[in-house]
Amino acid sequence: MKAAVFYGKNDVRIEERPKPKAGPNQLVVKIDYVGLCGTDADAYKTGSFLKHGMVLGHENIGTVTELGAGVDGYAVGDRLICGPPTYCAVHCPPCDRGDTNICANALANTRGIGGPDGGYAEYMLVQDVKNAILVKLPGNVDPKEAVLFDVICVAIHAIRLSCFRPGDNVVVSGGGGPVGLSAVRLLRAAGARRIAVLQTGPIKRPKLLEFGADLCIDPNETDDIAGKLRDFFGTGEEADVCFECAGNKTSLYNCLRYCTRPGGQVVMVGQVTQPADNIVPSDFFVKEISIQPSFVFTAKDVNIYADMLSTGKISFPGMITGIIPLEECVEKGLNLPREERRKHIKILIDPSMR
Ligand SMILES: [Zn+2]
Ligand SMILES: [Zn+2]
Repeated sequence: MKAAVFYGKNDVRIEERPKPKAGPNQLVVKIDYVGLCGTDADAYKTGSFLKHGMVLGHENIGTVTELGAGVDGYAVGDRLICGPPTYCAVHCPPCDRGDTNICANALANTRGIGGPDGGYAEYMLVQDVKNAILVKLPGNVDPKEAVLFDVICVAIHAIRLSCFRPGDNVVVSGGGGPVGLSAVRLLRAAGARRIAVLQTGPIKRPKLLEFGADLCIDPNETDDIAGKLRDFFGTGEEADVCFECAGNKTSLYNCLRYCTRPGGQVVMVGQVTQPADNIVPSDFFVKEISIQPSFVFTAKDVNIYADMLSTGKISFPGMITGIIPLEECVEKGLNLPREERRKHIKILIDPSMR
């Protein structure tokens, strides 16, 4: 079978590999679609996060082709969301509590990819069926919608963890990325009063408005974000809850400093990996602004999303902006120039496409 293998910085090769075989507590899926994630592109550009020699891909939808011994509850032909193996299987305290996303062992050891390899391939082995996120999809669910689970569940998890209530005014910063767009759609459906989005550049504006944003602010084009928000919300205050989805220090600074009312909450949805020395704790301390980090998602969030899809109560149309064959995953995906990438929301790889 064909697979896209990560060998480090700017080095992903399409190789012929043996088709995996299912051992005990394992199953094999034929990959229907795999999402091209920003973290895959970051790994490609920096050479970090992932083990060299590993097949990329953690946003997998596949159809079961083989079951190993002792695997119950699945059948050949089932279509599955194949999420990360979040449970570490050693009974650590967070996993025992159900907080598998903050388990100290699983994500750190697997980088969120199933083992031993991910889904940038024709077939993928689910190495540990008991400890992976596997959700069966009903036949009426479009696998191209289901594959969005990796971004939409991040937004679901963040909203469920937040103190958001219907009627709240909210800000989504970095709203034009796939997680930000998902958050806007979900917050609109969940009864947000007014939704303001901070997003640089105009490309994503029409989609944001379609998904339920009421106001888009380009933070580079105003020097009074707080004033704009106060006028727009009409309450004399900034947002009740602010979701930081860009994962950069400028966006986090804006959320803490300009977007959140006294007593409000900033939910850190994006992961900010740089130190941010312009963030002064007393700025939010004297306003009693609380900070809630929200890291990836759990099986519960994926089940919620699968249920939303199967009942048809909410959809996220137009999020898939490109479908490419595996052979072109570098040229038309991982290595897309920044400006080209900004035009896309989610690119899928279809390994059976020629
Ligand atoms: Zn992802
Ligand atoms: Zn654990």
